[in-house]
Amino acid sequence: MKHPTAWNFGKNGAGLRFLSVLLVCLLITAALPARSTAEDAEQPTFCGFEEHTHTEECFERTLICGETESETHTHTEECYETVTICGYEAHTHTLECYADKTADVENATIWRSSVSSAQLTGNWRHDLVEIAETQLGYRSSERNYTVEEGRIKRYTRYGDWYGGEECRYCDWCAGFVSFCLFYADIRNVPLSLACGAWVQSLGDAGLYRDAADYTPKAGDLIFFCREDDPERAASHVGIVVGVTEDGIRTIEGNRTRTVAEFRYQRDESTVIGYGVLPENPNCPVQNGALKQQLPPLRRSVPSPDRYLAY
Ligand SMILES: [Zn+2]
Ligand SMILES: [Zn+2]
Ligand SMILES: [Zn+2]
Repeated sequence: MKHPTAWNFGKNGAGLRFLSVLLVCLLITAALPARSTAEDAEQPTFCGFEEHTHTEECFERTLICGETESETHTHTEECYETVTICGYEAHTHTLECYADKTADVENATIWRSSVSSAQLTGNWRHDLVEIAETQLGYRSSERNYTVEEGRIKRYTRYGDWYGGEECRYCDWCAGFVSFCLFYADIRNVPLSLACGAWVQSLGDAGLYRDAADYTPKAGDLIFFCREDDPERAASHVGIVVGVTEDGIRTIEGNRTRTVAEFRYQRDESTVIGYGVLPENPNCPVQNGALKQQLPPLRRSVPSPDRYLAY
């Protein structure tokens, strides 16, 4: 037996059926604008090409031997030249075609204004943390990227600041820290865009300490290796912004797409060492009791959801 539904219910079956059909039509009509909006919102491309795949009609074979077939000449493939007549280049959009290389590009004016809320004191440790905090929330570009070996590398202000066009899509953890050192007006500390080379140059300058025999302080650079790297080579760097008995607070770029705060246990195994700032020779407020004259470190608003296990 059929179940009674709107489609066959009693005398008014036909009427209900009509209403149902009407309803379905209305629903489809209502859905249409949404669909065309989605089509309109299809991502624009920036490659300058239209997608085109050559078909047989795109080619023309022209005889170029200049001879007619006779007893002494039979046309071979070499007698013909194939030319493309469609006027298009064969092109299929790839990820790279959707990258807008002009999006989110910054300049020195923007960089200076991004750190303008920092209050520099001349105490380099303090000032490094102060500058790093102004950068919290900066996010690598959504639309401006390049594709290297299938991986998206996004534009960042730190790569661009460090090395312009050549570096704007580079890994940017060290670029971020270098940027902070620069805008904190810290001298006599080598800058770098590459963690391994940086550990080396800091070591050469007498400014590197192994994690095993050093107690970190706010204002240190903190170097990490990959968890599974038996060589424990430096692969990431950030800035120590706070140290408690059991934990280290850092600000880092390129651990995620956003400059953010992270927390680690003091015995975090991927920490390999620290870059230790020299004292500012021109700073009157440096040690001991004088430190208390410095403004207290501003507490940053922690970025949500990106805390590692404390
Ligand atoms: Zn074609
Ligand atoms: Zn021929
Ligand atoms: Zn394309």
